Amino acid sequence: MADYILAIDQGTTSSRAIVFDHSGSIVSTGQKEHEQIFPKPGWVEHNPMEIWDNIREVVGLALTRANLTYRDIAAVGITNQRETSVVWDKTTGEPVYNAIVWQDTRTQKICDELAALGGGAERYKARVGLPLATYFSGPKVRWILDNVEGAREKAEAGQLAFGNTDAWVLWNMTGGVDGGVHVTDVTNASRTMLMDLSTLSWDAEIAGEMGIPMSMLPEIKSSSEVYGHGREGGMVPGVPIAGILGDQQAATFGQACFEVGDAKNTYGTGNFMLLNTGTEPVPSKNGLLTTVCYKIGDNAPIYALEGSIAVTGSLIQWLRDNLGLISSAPEVEDLAKTVEDNGGAYFVPAFSGLFAPYWRGDARGVIAGLTRYVTKGHIARAALEATAFQTREVLDAMNADSGVELKELKVDGGMIANELLMEFQADILGVDVVRPKVAETTALGAAYAAGIAVGFWSGEQDVIDNWAEDKRWTPDMDVEAREKTYRNWKKAVTKTFDWVD
Ligand code: ADP
Repeated sequence: MADYILAIDQGTTSSRAIVFDHSGSIVSTGQKEHEQIFPKPGWVEHNPMEIWDNIREVVGLALTRANLTYRDIAAVGITNQRETSVVWDKTTGEPVYNAIVWQDTRTQKICDELAALGGGAERYKARVGLPLATYFSGPKVRWILDNVEGAREKAEAGQLAFGNTDAWVLWNMTGGVDGGVHVTDVTNASRTMLMDLSTLSWDAEIAGEMGIPMSMLPEIKSSSEVYGHGREGGMVPGVPIAGILGDQQAATFGQACFEVGDAKNTYGTGNFMLLNTGTEPVPSKNGLLTTVCYKIGDNAPIYALEGSIAVTGSLIQWLRDNLGLISSAPEVEDLAKTVEDNGGAYFVPAFSGLFAPYWRGDARGVIAGLTRYVTKGHIARAALEATAFQTREVLDAMNADSGVELKELKVDGGMIANELLMEFQADILGVDVVRPKVAETTALGAAYAAGIAVGFWSGEQDVIDNWAEDKRWTPDMDVEAREKTYRNWKKAVTKTFDWVD
């Protein structure tokens, strides 16, 4: 068997290709950012063709840099930004509209109308594990069918396909208009609001209410099996494509969270904490999502509780791109270190409303507690602290829902390079924060799912054996100070509500 696994990580800001060896170590990478398109306040789009072009480029880069060819690759795994929705024409291969990104809030009216049918925002929650919110795919597809000329007719004639970006990449890799495979995995399907969590199949009634023809929907498969092979003449001809996991589920897998009660938190564009709850879906009473964590081949599905936070790392990008306060993301740490504390300022970045645990589409961002004393250093510090406070809210909800106190938190993602944030995070949570040696856990998880499907790895034990700790941060703040600043944060959050009718 070939010696390597290739993971494709189609993320929110960039696409990456990473080659892993049998020990789960990175051999080479390729990465390219794609354009973030903001046509109106609250709208966020990506160009699916640009994404597909970038994938081909980064796969080429990763293979060339390691002096490898497709013959050295035993299998390919795909992981992706979830919920972001692509609708394309199966006969031309062209998307009918840009991808509508998970952060986009244009579907609020559609969500409100569905809620008004009865049951409010919880209308489908018992079946799909999710509240009605702009975050999820179903209403985004509905918007495209309602607003793109001719789309609904084509959809009803069976000509259009929908997918998160995993399905878009897989379809193109396996042949596109010449017979591409139209498949997604259970974790991506669990983010559409269209899949029944207990049967793992599409819910025709919900699809009907959302006006989405079933013929558009990809076939739902497990996260680890051979879905198809790279097309002849393509970048990995004949290589099995054998793993798909949504990015957060992939990171949970790559962090070896296989026991009930194991949790990880990823600090990227947004933050996503997932807690393994085992073979039964656990409904949340505290604003968390119930979602599929992973399913390996014919094994029983494993479920998770998830706390999703829309804006964490993207607030640092905003300080850089919209305010010009810093010229690169890592600089925020130096700026924050120019001051001792937040100077009384609290920054609640409700740019896409508030996700967990509030689910308030009407919220918008605020900086509270300003006085003449506050400097840009304090703003930088408040921006970093916002990530830590939002994570505390999610952790409190996890503890309440699961009835188990989390002992430590495994972390990953771009922001964990920030030592000041990690120390503050441990302080605010009151538990240890632990960073693994391989920080690219998302790509790693997808690689493992693919490698397990083709026998390159034997199973979860290999993932556990390969996982290693790099660094640990221990809480060092007195409890009174911690709770006082957290109370102030909560007060600031209340100032974001009721901004949008
Ligand atoms: P994604 O996979 O969501 O695209 P990444 O995991 O690559 O995101 O993380 C990138 C995010 O991390 C960006 O939003 C960036 O602003 C933030 N980031 C990167 N380095 C730092 C740093 N040193 N301090 C704070 N934030 C950072």
